[in-house]
Amino acid sequence: MSDIRVERLLKTFGSLRAVDDITFAFPEGQVTCLLGPSGCGKTTLMRIIAGLEAPTAGDVYFGDRRVTPLPPRKREIGMVFQYPVVYKGISVRRNIELPLQSMKLSNAERKRRVDEVIDLLGLGLSAGLDVSRLDNGTRQKVAVAREVARQPRIILFDEPITNVDATSKLQLKRAFKELTRRLSQTIVYVTHDQTEAMTLADQIALMRDGKIVQCDEPRALYDHPADRFGGWFLGNPGMVFFETTAGARAGAAALESPALAGALRLPATAPGAPVVYGIRPEKIEVRATAAPGFVPAKLDRKSIQIGGQYLLQLAIPGLDAASVKAKVAPERGAALRAGEQVWVGLPLDRITVFDADGGRIDAIPAVTGQTADARV
Ligand code: ATP
Repeated sequence: MSDIRVERLLKTFGSLRAVDDITFAFPEGQVTCLLGPSGCGKTTLMRIIAGLEAPTAGDVYFGDRRVTPLPPRKREIGMVFQYPVVYKGISVRRNIELPLQSMKLSNAERKRRVDEVIDLLGLGLSAGLDVSRLDNGTRQKVAVAREVARQPRIILFDEPITNVDATSKLQLKRAFKELTRRLSQTIVYVTHDQTEAMTLADQIALMRDGKIVQCDEPRALYDHPADRFGGWFLGNPGMVFFETTAGARAGAAALESPALAGALRLPATAPGAPVVYGIRPEKIEVRATAAPGFVPAKLDRKSIQIGGQYLLQLAIPGLDAASVKAKVAPERGAALRAGEQVWVGLPLDRITVFDADGGRIDAIPAVTGQTADARV
């Protein structure tokens, strides 16, 4: 069942379609991250769900209830914003307790809820402190705790950890993870940070130009982007693309290596049409010595990444692409030297094929005995 549903939702600012005819259901009890580049409409969509912004057209439903005309306070939802909203001059515990006082709860239940969120968010040591004395990260934890303790069915988070320091960011991320594991609220979480989305989301709704272009579990979204945009936006760096032109041999010389030519299965509709091959940088194989199916390349630059992997910038002769970025394991990267020749392999089972418009083309089963042609 879906807890939040938006139907034909449109929001225009002058000629700009900030939310462009979105129909979408947010599943009950799950965390859905709205992810996308700056200006793609994430916040506007969330503000419409919250009732802070009226849609130009379309509707919002919570369960079966149409809430489009209701103001925020009548929607009975929780909200956490970029900047923590807390009551200064009173303690952390009081901050969390206050909204519960207007609810019909027994003293024992109220205490149980407050203790639970204090524990969940690791606020034990600061429970008795005035929030004015706390740093921004801890204040944000208080804001989250207050919303969670009310136990609304739906909580909306708008980039809640963007403005906190690195340590609090990590703590908040961990707390969110624990929170979502233990509670069953429906959460919509807006972020432009893919790592945050990958860590927290049950599913990611990827947005671009006012539309949700794909919604999937994080792994599926990363491994099977529906279009080039998803391939490019996700990953650090994003997918590497090799363009081909109609009628030409595969633009990528690398794709003509036997290893690559063997298994690529293009759909029946594709022959002759230009396609784009995409591969994640960490799926590109790089070796110091020649091997069957590998093509020679020059290692232009090498840099170490967080986690110890190496990012390699490669020039492959015959390739139009300015440079190809590959990511390799520490031990492999350490053995390679910038300026020297290396050998590159692009495993076909790791390649995603896109059409000229950027949409993914799914492979079709190869006809037995027929060698599929990587050259189009
Ligand atoms: P960011 O990550 O930068 O917050 P976003 O994906 O949340 O971006 P929105 O804030 O929803 O994007 O904005 C979507 C588009 O609508 C942007 O082009 C923005 O400039 C525009 N926009 C948002 N609010 C208004 C407004 N009140 N008046 C005019 N334009 C607006």
